[in-house]
Amino acid sequence: MLLDEHTQPTPVGPVLGRPMEDVRATYTIGKELGRGQFGVTYLCTHKQSGEQFACKTIAKRKLANKEDIEDVRREVQIMHHLTGQANIVELKGAYEDKHSVHLVMELCAGGELFDRIIAKGHYTERAAASLLRTIVEIVHTCHSMGVIHRDLKPENFLLLNKDENAPLKATDFGLSVFYKQGEYFKDIVGSAYYIAPEVLKRKYGPEVDIWSVGVMLYILLCGVPPFWADHPWIKEDGEAPDTPLDNAVLNRLKQFRAMNQFKKVALRVIAGCLSEEEIMGLKEMFKSMDADNSGTITLEELKQGLAEQGTKLSESEVKQLMEAADADGNGTIDYEEFITATMHMNRMDREEHLYTAFQYFDKDNSGYITIEELEQALREFGMGDDKDIKEIISEVDADHDGRINYDEFVAMMKKGNPDIVANTKKRRDGVYTS
Ligand code: ADP
Repeated sequence: MLLDEHTQPTPVGPVLGRPMEDVRATYTIGKELGRGQFGVTYLCTHKQSGEQFACKTIAKRKLANKEDIEDVRREVQIMHHLTGQANIVELKGAYEDKHSVHLVMELCAGGELFDRIIAKGHYTERAAASLLRTIVEIVHTCHSMGVIHRDLKPENFLLLNKDENAPLKATDFGLSVFYKQGEYFKDIVGSAYYIAPEVLKRKYGPEVDIWSVGVMLYILLCGVPPFWADHPWIKEDGEAPDTPLDNAVLNRLKQFRAMNQFKKVALRVIAGCLSEEEIMGLKEMFKSMDADNSGTITLEELKQGLAEQGTKLSESEVKQLMEAADADGNGTIDYEEFITATMHMNRMDREEHLYTAFQYFDKDNSGYITIEELEQALREFGMGDDKDIKEIISEVDADHDGRINYDEFVAMMKKGNPDIVANTKKRRDGVYTS
């Protein structure tokens, strides 16, 4: 422990984990430059040299828990780690006193990137390309130093000074993390327009920065973000006309539904042929979800089970999943329904499974599924009326002979599932819901 001039021990700051130090002993804090989620940034002047810097002050009372404290500590570590790299704001020093943490860094007096572009009044694609080159270099630097920025957006690119050709500097590493090759992250962090979809799916790596750069490039070229929640067509009382859609659409919808029922039955047949070994994992999953050992999974159990597995789904998504799996519509999922809905479609790349399913429908072994046979099979599962069945046949029966041969059956099962044949490496960890 350090001793001050009165030989009193200097207390260690809980955030930075080293002796507290008064930033005002070295710097004069001046006017506010801007504020963000956690901090207020002030102009500050080094007392001895008169040199100007920016001081980001984070009030400790805003750091609610251990994670928040970790975040600040990491921000300091990462900025130190990246110091000396071109186009990244340099950290001069970090101080902690009783109330706040202060990050003294290079002053970017030129303001934010977009303000500069707008103020200029003229702007070319070449200028956008040049900005993109710099931004990509910055991302490359971060990644090659083992850092994912995780919050790349125009507000976090500042200009060093007011000159026409002032260098661009990336800032705000408050959400950044250190990463190792092959490591995945699952915290949802970032900013709405710029966040990569895999962040929301909670399994991602450094590529998420590239996505954000893509969004920035789009904005640089078009002036609006590519993913804007309020497209005029989607909006309530928006542009979508209230005129009825063509009858053909309704018919196609019906056909689509019927087709899926046929496929569901076929999948169920396939599920029934899988070996014990193949479905062991799913069986274990079923057992762990069926909390009361009743042999069926209720909506509540499904919700709970998915949450325990770390799958975060909204109430309506869980309901959808339930409805998709609950083939007989009785409100619960039994063991067979569960296996049918969860086994990955890649099971179907096994030719013998498809063939078994075909034979299940082709009761008399004629090599064709007839209207009557299809009718009988769907009835067994409480599905399909005569009209549905005619529609299925007319859609699947490519050679128009009024019945379905094996090739037609395989084509139907593969339609809309392009990965069936190609994807033999994927494991059955995906939930198949259509
Ligand atoms: P937060 O992490 O709380 O969002 P930021 O680091 O983004 O805070 O800083 C908030 C604002 O302060 C920025 O938008 C910018 O206007 C200003 N600012 C941040 N760093 C600097 C700097 N080095 N030089 C000048 N202004 C800065």
